[in-house]
Amino acid sequence: MQPFIDADEIWNYLKGVKADKQRVRDVISASLDKKRLSLEETAVLINAEDPELIEEIREAARLLKEKVYGERIVLFAPLYVGDLCKNNCLYCGFRSSNKQVKRITLSRQELIAETKALTEQGHKRLILVYGEHPKYSAGFIAETARIVYDVKHKNGEIRRVNINAAPFDIQGFRTIKDAGIGTYQIFQETYHEPTYRKVHLGGIKRNYEWRLTALDRAQEAGIDDTGIGALLGLYDWRFEVLGLVRHVNHFEAVYNVGPHTISFPRIQNALSLNIGKDYLVTDNEFVRLVSILRLAVPYAGMILTAREPSHVRDQVMRFGVSQIDGGTNIELGGYSKGKHDKKCLDKVQFPINDTRPLHEIMGELINSGYIPSFCTACYRLGRTGEHFMSFSVPGFIKRYCTPNALLTLAEYLEDYANTDTKKAGYELIDKKLQAMTHEQEVSGLKKKIEQIKTGDRDLYF
Ligand code: SAM
Ligand code: SF4
Repeated sequence: MQPFIDADEIWNYLKGVKADKQRVRDVISASLDKKRLSLEETAVLINAEDPELIEEIREAARLLKEKVYGERIVLFAPLYVGDLCKNNCLYCGFRSSNKQVKRITLSRQELIAETKALTEQGHKRLILVYGEHPKYSAGFIAETARIVYDVKHKNGEIRRVNINAAPFDIQGFRTIKDAGIGTYQIFQETYHEPTYRKVHLGGIKRNYEWRLTALDRAQEAGIDDTGIGALLGLYDWRFEVLGLVRHVNHFEAVYNVGPHTISFPRIQNALSLNIGKDYLVTDNEFVRLVSILRLAVPYAGMILTAREPSHVRDQVMRFGVSQIDGGTNIELGGYSKGKHDKKCLDKVQFPINDTRPLHEIMGELINSGYIPSFCTACYRLGRTGEHFMSFSVPGFIKRYCTPNALLTLAEYLEDYANTDTKKAGYELIDKKLQAMTHEQEVSGLKKKIEQIKTGDRDLYF
């Protein structure tokens, strides 16, 4: 395969493209027409330095988010399965040279206990996370996904298992696909090859191309639901944003389907890991780059994790984020222990900054007018490419996404919410029902909500 990241091409755009007022406004309006931006157009937004234009970009991202995703925010939780790792990634607590970390792989019973603890919070969507190690073969990953799916606990169950693990060959990806996974997520970390080589000191992950082409092999294996990402702080964020957009172009051109999600984690604990300060991304730059990504790839889900503190999450969410994790605990076996040990740096990959329990996040989302969603309907009904569908089929969100978000919210309110959240949640549902215009749809939705109140579960359109 021809390498699809060309550093010179990216730098030529970053150095050569002018960002005068009219041009920036033209690009913004193309994006508001839900057009995926080219590299050149994205570079226009990146190169806009005038505070007035930066503000216009943020405002446009907010508008586009409203237009495409409405007030829905999808919730999930990461579940770390094992931290054995043969790679030596300078930025990661699980790197092979770190002899302080305790290496743990959850047993079947421990994995079941973790899953039960997560269902007791109300979760329906998980992402399973693994180090890269021969023990974590494709067969092992498929088996752990099946174990999680098989857990039925009170009214709880996990309905969508996403994966964040090492790249495999095509056969390996097929094995994992057969377990019925949702998204396969792999971050390139940095699209800048010399930097990539500098920070990946050992193991298979040192091979930049094997990593870069990983999700192509996933596609060949039939996994068309993929998540890409860049770890911010390793290299210039402007370069990484164009790298991500180039990766999106590549998928669209070759497979006719873009990535389902884009992630943009900022490195945690970078200074104590000797990453250096040169490329650390400030809060302002972070909001700016999230807004630019929102406008550049309007259909992709954008994920913001508990690496960020709650005040940053609350702010950035407005500018295009569609998925967040809640009640996160990344200590291996941490969910069943029930408490978050912030100081356990010998047990985690990196420290997290938002340790609010899920019920607190749910209450805050509802009170801020968001509709928290645990919906998994499209992928279970085989409506794959749901992000494209919700984006391109007129009325899709109105007909499916919003009603299904409200149904999963009603389930949550019945099974897990405290009195205040339940009251506020049903008020929100009533408000949304009143705002709906199509009579038949409203009555169908009301009927299903009544069914949920009397004990039915897992209802969707
Ligand atoms: N071993 C798998 C891999 O490398 O793809 C799983 C990766 S890891 C468990 C998930 C992601 O966490 C990595 O891809 C990286 O982007 C991110 N990560 C690693 N160290 C980090 C740190 N110090 N701060 C923030 N994110 C980090
Ligand atoms: Fe291992 Fe992944 Fe951490 Fe690298 S980022 S050391 S591959 S767990």
